[in-house]
Amino acid sequence: MLRTVILAAARSSRVERLVATAPFTRDVVRRFVAGEGTDDALRATRELVADGLAVTLDNLGEDVVTAEQATATRDEYLSLLGALHTAGLTPAAEVSVKLSALGQMIDEKLAYDNARAICQAADAAGTTVTLDMEDHTTTDSTLDILAKLRKDHPGTGAVLQAYLRRTESDCRELAYAGSRVRLCKGAYREPESVAYQADRDVDRSYVRCLNVLMSGDGYPMLATHDPRLIAIGEDRARWFDRGPDRFEFQMLYGIRPEEQARLSAEGYTVRTYVPYGDDWYGYLMRRLAERPANLAFFGRALASK
Ligand code: FAD
Repeated sequence: MLRTVILAAARSSRVERLVATAPFTRDVVRRFVAGEGTDDALRATRELVADGLAVTLDNLGEDVVTAEQATATRDEYLSLLGALHTAGLTPAAEVSVKLSALGQMIDEKLAYDNARAICQAADAAGTTVTLDMEDHTTTDSTLDILAKLRKDHPGTGAVLQAYLRRTESDCRELAYAGSRVRLCKGAYREPESVAYQADRDVDRSYVRCLNVLMSGDGYPMLATHDPRLIAIGEDRARWFDRGPDRFEFQMLYGIRPEEQARLSAEGYTVRTYVPYGDDWYGYLMRRLAERPANLAFFGRALASK
């Protein structure tokens, strides 16, 4: 119930204004977001890479409504990739991209052209791009754009969301050699017609999808903080003899950092998803919805003012 309310608030510009102007918000945002500028992104990346972690960077923003905004997002990624390369942080760091921030709602071709420019810059920087997955109305369009991008940029990664009923079948389609697939539970509010609603059903779907990916020929990226699913991932890695170059764990910046360090120390490849930028509202609200206990941060930050 609380999750539904928070996800509804994530779509409300009125609540956004309230949250953005609240005096305690900055402290809360800082826990989950590396900072606002490219320098902040580079600093966080440097620290994580020094600790033995790989990184994927997300320039925060989604649902842009003008072609100019989409072009500005593209340009931010181009300059980020150049900066990562110059700083010697590629290939340890790659980028994650939301097609809605590249104009998918305006014109699919515009989003594709922008994404292609980012893939070209990633190739030049010696690294890769992963397309984030947004709500279910965009899944087909995102997978179509992925297929086109992979023709020239086969390293482009996809994200599949275990809460969608279609995902086990999408995993089968994408479990081919060279195919990088990030498997996550899914972070949006989705109707029952397309998505499992109960946590246990989402978890079961995650395990079925994980089995398909780990037994397939592609490169699985297991994006979860869930201890049970991580243990199942470790088990399947042993079973299918997948070493650190044949799959990876992924987690979000600021969430279970001690578990990220533990897995890395055990010899697994672990990639931290690092968001940065000033358009943090939707991202923050999804993190709060996943774990309403995080609302306590708001409470504590408020109490300390
Ligand atoms: P949960 O059942 O949510 O959490 C399991 C445990 O992890 C919790 O008990 C808690 O200990 C810890 N935990 C989880 N979330 C939090 C939190 N916010 N704060 C503190 N502790 C927490 N979703 C999409 O829809 N599209 C994407 O493209 C996408 N990309 C992602 C990329 C990465 C690298 C990751 C890690 C997640 C991504 N997600 C994406 C989000 C994902 O779908 C889930 O919403 C999110 O990961 C929470 O699910 P969980 O598997 O961690 O399990």
